[in-house]
Amino acid sequence: MIWALLNDEKTEAIPKTFGKCPLCGKKVVSKCGEIKVWHWAHLKDKSCDHWYEPETFWHLHWKLTFGKENAEIVIKKDGKRHIADILTNSDVVIELQNSPIQKSVIRKREKFYGERMLWLINGIDFKDNFEVSNQDNFDVLYRFYNNLPANNKLVFDWKWARKSWEEVERSVFIDFGKESLFWVQTGMGTSRGEGKYISKEKFINKYGGDFEYYTQQRV
Ligand SMILES: [Zn+2]
Repeated sequence: MIWALLNDEKTEAIPKTFGKCPLCGKKVVSKCGEIKVWHWAHLKDKSCDHWYEPETFWHLHWKLTFGKENAEIVIKKDGKRHIADILTNSDVVIELQNSPIQKSVIRKREKFYGERMLWLINGIDFKDNFEVSNQDNFDVLYRFYNNLPANNKLVFDWKWARKSWEEVERSVFIDFGKESLFWVQTGMGTSRGEGKYISKEKFINKYGGDFEYYTQQRV
């Protein structure tokens, strides 16, 4: 985690310091190395939240864009507690996903966080297998002959699609490291589907993040 509690206040890791985990209340120790993002870790090197993913620069960057008031927020529901990556002021949970994830975990998280949740996925590892094209020729003709309005959605072809996403129920935005996110609208986790680009500026502003920070800190 980026923030632990020090005197009950969310604090970034400080070298050689102990803090308190905001989720379980146990002792955490600062990890301030040169390679990894400065963070806090449980003493036995095991997170208390089994949904937890090891912190990457990608996570850090997105979380800091939303700030400590809105990132790593403990959510309690039905006697369970989890740390949401981002909780916006309008109560939307944004879950950051850097690595492949199992279908069952996707389902559990969606169930826990409810309908006001969306996924923001790091697509950098599969960007070369994910091709976005302007239009589906068949669809263009079909619409033309049936007097339907033109469809400005984009089509994607995903080689070796990550099938665990097939049954995802919440919105999915993929970050390929560009100016815009790709918002998947149909066919997530399959070899072909539809979506559109939404600029990061629009996305970040919509959900209350700091776009200026995001662009300045870009690595
Ligand atoms: Zn803990």
